[in-house]
Amino acid sequence: MEHHDVLIVGGGNAGISLAARLLRDGAQDVAIVESESVHRYRPLLNYVGAGEASMALLERPAASVMPDGATWIQAVVESVDPGGPSVLLRDGRRVGCARLVVCPGLEEDWDATPGLVEAYAAGWAGSTFVVETAPRVWPALRDLAGGRVVFTMPPEPAPCSATALKPLFMACDHWRRAGVLDDLDVHLVLPGSSPIGVPRADALLERTLASYGVQVLRDARVSSVGARRVSVTTPAGDQHLDDLRYAHVVPHYHAPRWVAESDLAGASAAGLVDVDPATLRHPRHGAVWSLGDVADLGIKPSGGALRKQVAVLTQNMAAADAGVFARYDGYTVMPITVARHRLMLVEIDRDGRPAPTVPFPDLVRPRRATWWVDRYALPQTYFRRILRGKV
Ligand SMILES: Cc1cc2nc3c(=O)[nH]c(=O)nc-3n(C[C@H](O)[C@H](O)[C@H](O)COP(=O)(O)OP(=O)(O)OC[C@H]3O[C@@H](n4cnc5c(N)ncnc54)[C@H](O)[C@@H]3O)c2cc1C
Repeated sequence: MEHHDVLIVGGGNAGISLAARLLRDGAQDVAIVESESVHRYRPLLNYVGAGEASMALLERPAASVMPDGATWIQAVVESVDPGGPSVLLRDGRRVGCARLVVCPGLEEDWDATPGLVEAYAAGWAGSTFVVETAPRVWPALRDLAGGRVVFTMPPEPAPCSATALKPLFMACDHWRRAGVLDDLDVHLVLPGSSPIGVPRADALLERTLASYGVQVLRDARVSSVGARRVSVTTPAGDQHLDDLRYAHVVPHYHAPRWVAESDLAGASAAGLVDVDPATLRHPRHGAVWSLGDVADLGIKPSGGALRKQVAVLTQNMAAADAGVFARYDGYTVMPITVARHRLMLVEIDRDGRPAPTVPFPDLVRPRRATWWVDRYALPQTYFRRILRGKV
């Protein structure tokens, strides 16, 4: 049986940056199981959906982001034995390890929204969160001059759900500049009672929604999609948005089946990995660790959160035998464009308290400079520094 010191399942934002950091710190034998041959910087998908970026800008061959010295096992994990620990690959190989890190991200829960796949295929619905449909979003939104459109934010857990507001606001700003916003009937389906659950940011976002004339369905979730209709369950009963010119519907998400059905999972309905939210160590399997979107950390997951998670996990894996642990405070980020070229950056800890990276300026206030950083500087930082374990 193939065996490694550290085996990381998932070569996304979490897995690659962690592997790079461990190797920089002197780890000798790190392997990454990653099935895909393309790596994507997913935050740019929302800019693709606003005509501000192309898919080519966010995609790299997976081989080019694998850290020097890491072993890439290009295969699909089918099941896990957390006690071993080891994983079984689809090609029948079993790979064992001294320490296992589980970070395969989240999977779309297509069963949660009947009709969504068919609506994507028909072309009147799409989402920046779905790689296949992201390039079709802007051509569909750009030339609309009237009619009803709907945007949705997915319920948690989801990959940086707040950024589902980006395509909405960037499209509204475009329509306002084009002089057609008043002829459009724009709706937003929110899973909560307010946009993101952070009072100061919510006040700004509510004003922005009102200024664009967006009608908001709250505490709502999409129950089905079909025949240019999006059906939504709300506390007041089911509602139907009919005759839609376009529907930007983000899928719901859950943990991969092999995680949810294993002893890695805890009590969450989505089957997330049970993990000590401070140390990132599994509570029942001491050789197993988890981070990223699949870990049950009591936060809204984001790529920005990984900067802190990777640092804590690297320290804790090294110090585990001594029992001295660094603690993750639940830091996460929500970058939201309120117009085509203005962005608010909301940074909070696990309790929802502000956790700004820089004390000044106030990044919650929407700024052009913050948009520029999000659109132009961060993608460079991601490929040159974050994925190389330097941040
Ligand atoms: C549209 C969109 C916009 C976003 N915008 C932002 C933003 O502006 N700011 C921000 O901070 N975050 C943003 N995010 C969130 C961010 O991309 C995620 O939080 C981050 O990618 C999570 O990293 P991860 O490694 O946990 O999961 P992923 O990036 O999903 O990586 C998981 C990897 O595991 C692999 N994998 C899964 N299952 C298996 C298996 N069985 N076998 C082998 N390999 C497997 C997958 O192929 C994948 O490469 C956005 C996400 C999306 C979708």
